[in-house]
Amino acid sequence: MSDGESVKTVSVVRCEDYNREKTCAAVRKAIDLVGGVGAFVTPGEKVFLKFNLLQGSAPETCITTNPEVVYAVAKLLKDHGCEVLLGDSPGSGSLYSENNLKKAYEVSGYDKIAQDLGVLLNYDVGYREVSAPGSTTIKRFPIISPALDCDAIVVVSKAKTHSLTYLSGAAKNIFGVIPGLDKPTYHARLPDPVAFGRMIIDINDIVKPNLQVMDAVMGMEGDGPHAGTPRKIGAVLASGNYSAIDVATCRLMSLDPLRVPTITAAIEREYLKGDLSDISLVGDNFEEFIVKDYQCPSTYLGQGKSGGKSHRLMRLVFKLVNEYPPRPVIHTDRCTRCMKCVRSCPVKTIAVVDTLPRIGYKKCIKCYCCHEMCDSHAITLERTLAGKILAKVVFRK
Ligand code: SF4
Ligand code: SF4
Repeated sequence: MSDGESVKTVSVVRCEDYNREKTCAAVRKAIDLVGGVGAFVTPGEKVFLKFNLLQGSAPETCITTNPEVVYAVAKLLKDHGCEVLLGDSPGSGSLYSENNLKKAYEVSGYDKIAQDLGVLLNYDVGYREVSAPGSTTIKRFPIISPALDCDAIVVVSKAKTHSLTYLSGAAKNIFGVIPGLDKPTYHARLPDPVAFGRMIIDINDIVKPNLQVMDAVMGMEGDGPHAGTPRKIGAVLASGNYSAIDVATCRLMSLDPLRVPTITAAIEREYLKGDLSDISLVGDNFEEFIVKDYQCPSTYLGQGKSGGKSHRLMRLVFKLVNEYPPRPVIHTDRCTRCMKCVRSCPVKTIAVVDTLPRIGYKKCIKCYCCHEMCDSHAITLERTLAGKILAKVVFRK
């Protein structure tokens, strides 16, 4: 994303269904309207095409990016002379393994389109730690290898709601470059959606996607990104700017873009103007695609059809998710009483009791700074009993 770019163009093109020929024509037109594929990638480049995989689901559930939209984008890239690699790392509850990728690709229809097109799917489950000194949240991220080893990244997202961030669009899609089971740790470290949104922008700043395409032929409404309901929008969108395409997608879904933490984080960083006046829409008549009664997530604006009940449920889910990451445990027999941990704790929840540090777990946000700072290896990371059960039953770890 170019920070200095003054006008961010987003194209919107009608696409009624996933017929291959029509989808290819619509995607080509959408990308041509924002400058053509050559404005984003160069022949000979290795391009990582990142779709939205989650755990892998049948295309008609609208949980994943439809394979026909992926096919259309990959074909354009291939015809342009690029070496295309398709992939994603699965969502929070899945181990990033070759076997899981194979199953997820198969059920989502990606193996079929890769074969049809003669391009490769990623099975490299390696990742590397990347320093992010300019990050506003976390300073190091594990990033999957294909996102680091390519020359360019093209992100092909799905227009879906999201219970935490309201929109699961282009900016949020990049969270998939964090390997599968590492994702819950980031949710625990940044449970506040505003901070989480800032972290998503930090990750985008690291991998710098080149081109964005949004599958809004069929979107998802309600409690996305996994448990919502398919809803027709009838369009594909393209842009060089992930926040601008997210703003346009929000409007199609009748969501207020200024309620979406990944968009407000981009505004904070001056990647977008606060009044969103620097976004230019081109292509078909935008107004015709707006779905006025699109169902927002039940968590949206703290309201929703099921009101307080849904919020009690969300609190329980967050509590459980928060149990999954391990917590720091101090082993006093190894402690040299240097108090570095006390000084490093950002929420000041390590007290000194009888000359030894003691952690107050109620306030602990599991940032692991204390663990990082302890030279004596007197702090280990261990799961509570609930965390162990959750890891076994839900995360199968
Ligand atoms: S940093 Fe380690 S050694 Fe130092 S006080 Fe904390 S637990 Fe003890
Ligand atoms: S106790 Fe350790 S992990 Fe918990 S908030 Fe403090 S520094 Fe972070």
